[in-house]
Amino acid sequence: MIKTTIGNISQQENQEVVIEGWLYNKRSSGKIQFLQLRDGTGFIQGVAVKNEVSSEVFNLCKELTQESAIRVFGIVRKDDRAPSGYELTITNLELVSLAMKYPISLKEHGIEFLMDHRHLWLRSKRQHAILKVRAAIGRYAREFLDNRGFTHIDSPIITSSAPEDSGSLFEVDYFGEKAYLAQTGQLYAEAAAMAFGSVYTFGPTFRAEKSKTRRHLNEFWMLEPEVCYLDHEGSLKLQEDLIEYIVQNVIKSCTLELKTLGRDIKELEIIKAPFPRITYDKAVEMLKENGMEIEWGEDFGAPHEIYLSEQFNGLPVFVTHYPKDCKAFYMEPDPDRPDTVKCADLLYPGFGEIIGGSERIHDLDILLQRIQEENLPMEVYDWYADLRKYGTVPHSGFGLGLERMTICITGVDHIREAIPFARTLNRITP
Ligand code: ATP
Ligand code: MG
Repeated sequence: MIKTTIGNISQQENQEVVIEGWLYNKRSSGKIQFLQLRDGTGFIQGVAVKNEVSSEVFNLCKELTQESAIRVFGIVRKDDRAPSGYELTITNLELVSLAMKYPISLKEHGIEFLMDHRHLWLRSKRQHAILKVRAAIGRYAREFLDNRGFTHIDSPIITSSAPEDSGSLFEVDYFGEKAYLAQTGQLYAEAAAMAFGSVYTFGPTFRAEKSKTRRHLNEFWMLEPEVCYLDHEGSLKLQEDLIEYIVQNVIKSCTLELKTLGRDIKELEIIKAPFPRITYDKAVEMLKENGMEIEWGEDFGAPHEIYLSEQFNGLPVFVTHYPKDCKAFYMEPDPDRPDTVKCADLLYPGFGEIIGGSERIHDLDILLQRIQEENLPMEVYDWYADLRKYGTVPHSGFGLGLERMTICITGVDHIREAIPFARTLNRITP
């Protein structure tokens, strides 16, 4: 008898195994009980035939409730009709615990009900698939950067500085002083890059924005690479290679999950570098030609981004050189067009922004001037300015939102399903 998992079942064809898991669903046709089993690694059908198991086991199968914990013994059979390719002929079954009446049935429920029961909803096939893909994205993102010699640096979550939009900061009491939850790890990543060359932070970030869109969370995870001696163009190259690596590896390792989600793999297979690039100027022109309302100098809204994202044959597009006034103070002005900065947002087809990045200002005087122009409190940026005093070099970095990447790969339509426990305007439990 081999203890195994559903995820590894293909290695045990025709052998007798035991799986420790739960009853996902059940149906019967008199003499046969069909048990849908799950064990965290996957889903498989177990079949108990009346005359082939003891009467105790057969009766137990009949009495099992949805989500009861069970240990299932059986022989692994190849079955091409099964999504996993295998079925289990049940030989024995042990009850670990009988579940009370489970609130989530496999029929339709309203979204608020499901979010109230998120702690249980995670067990459903679809949610399981989405979060498996999310985990794979994180894994491949780190793998890509680790393979290129990046050092993973953790930036603080409690900060005293308020980098960008101070209106969207969560305030915390720090022994009587005001402190804030980090909106980004970038400034710390820049400091670390000067020590380690190529670094990335990957952690939770917090934005107290009262938005109710399908792509904003108040707590989300961001991957933020930062690289010394890397210019704007080099950064775009790094970004497209990273996205290609993530997407192409997720297709290979999450085949079953993407199938569960009904994802069109062809749309993912074409996500390969290089990605097209257009300037902000050109983007405004395209939007105007399409009759959309926008003036030079305004930031894009979701409809603008979605329109632009759909004009490049299914490839993501970089929009570069935004007006200085739309973007953060630390972005390097373009010497040829000083009213714009060397930045780019990467727009994913049909979705919009998944990455925001730029070359950073490395000259002390220009940085101080920009801080002043934006009326930012100089004392907050003292240490940040130090980085420009001691061996400053050109450097670039960007931020990729993990949940937005998850939406783009899985095709789910709301970001609340792309994170285990979403924090949104009206929700902080479970
Ligand atoms: P948006 O304009 O869509 O609000 P942003 O310009 O505020 O995005 P950045 O500050 O550049 O975004 O953050 C970098 C990346 O982090 C974004 O490209 C996105 O993938 C992700 N991100 C930003 N805000 C959120 C959010 N509220 N929820 C989830 N992901 C986010
Ligand atoms: Mg924002």
